[in-house]
Amino acid sequence: MSAPARIQVPGEIRFAVLPPLALYVHLPWCVRKCPYCDFNSHERASALPEADYVAALIADLEGMLPSVWGRRIVSIFIGGGTPSLFSPEAIERMLSDVRARITVEPTAEITLEANPGTVEAGRFRGFRAAGVNRISLGVQSFDDAILAKLGRIHSADEARRAIETALQAFDNVNIDLMYGLPGQSLEMARADAAEGIRCQTLHFSAYQLTIEPNTVFYSKPPALPEHDACADMQLAYEAALAAAGFEHYETSAFARPGMRCRHNLNYWEFGDYLGIGAGAHGKVSFPDRIERHARAKQPREYMEAAARGASSVENRIVSPRELPFEFMLNALRLADGVPRTLFAERTGLDALSIEKQLCAAQAKGLLEPDAQRIRPTRRGRLFLNDLTELFLPAPK
Ligand code: SF4
Repeated sequence: MSAPARIQVPGEIRFAVLPPLALYVHLPWCVRKCPYCDFNSHERASALPEADYVAALIADLEGMLPSVWGRRIVSIFIGGGTPSLFSPEAIERMLSDVRARITVEPTAEITLEANPGTVEAGRFRGFRAAGVNRISLGVQSFDDAILAKLGRIHSADEARRAIETALQAFDNVNIDLMYGLPGQSLEMARADAAEGIRCQTLHFSAYQLTIEPNTVFYSKPPALPEHDACADMQLAYEAALAAAGFEHYETSAFARPGMRCRHNLNYWEFGDYLGIGAGAHGKVSFPDRIERHARAKQPREYMEAAARGASSVENRIVSPRELPFEFMLNALRLADGVPRTLFAERTGLDALSIEKQLCAAQAKGLLEPDAQRIRPTRRGRLFLNDLTELFLPAPK
């Protein structure tokens, strides 16, 4: 006779099946630091220590393998910094060393971020041969004056050529554009969106420039368009992309049908990911808990720590009280939301534990009255902070 099913205690985490597992790889160097950038990126002073850094990444991965035995990697994202500064040979070595240690699904999406100022046709072909199957290009604008104000190392023409050559080597290309830029008018934002659409990529990301602490723009803020003008630019992007057949599936992401970014979807659907590289973060679920980990931000410090087998500078168990908010912070960015069942599947908590908050969000018109999905209304998407705050842990 089988043992009777045990009732789940409120606040207890219990996973029937662990979430999908992705891999994020951080390559932290750039040619020059952009004045708006708060990513963990460092100006390269001399030749990159490619071989040593790849060795550190692999040592870092090896240290995490006992936490993920038997699991498979569903997608890989090589981000930065400027990963396209690395040679195709170094990327190939890194990917084959990863594959030698953990199973990567044969159909895994493998994205590499590239800066239009650091690529030519041979390099793109090399990345393709290394196993990369998706390129994400940081274009930001097609206006030379604006690119100069943003401190970008490429011109608009270089961006156009980079997109063209990326599309010769890859079917799946994303371009990042920004709006709300210094000196930008609504017409200029419209022109950027139109030119981006004409490039015929399958994926498009449009972000509003925000001024972040610890950046040059924070200490010397440029004159930016007013809040209402930025809102108009956002609407102009959304309208132009919808008219061109893109699906607006996440706050800043737009895709041709079937071409959503699988790696990012895994974050938004609260999947697991290993994060290797300087400053990388990860999240790993176990049958009874969820852990988050982080790496040292300085590349030198990171490489030394990885060589000692001690790459993690932070390793903590996420309190079950924080999980509803963390889950919603991600899932509610998706225009279609997520199936109701995903909450229990990805947090390990009892589905009923958020019933009160879901009802309150529906009563405020922020969530659709949908029995099958947790789906934000138009108002919920506009007031996303108000919506996610409803899932913050109650004060003790
Ligand atoms: S290229 Fe990208 S990562 Fe590097 S400094 Fe500029 S914005 Fe930051």
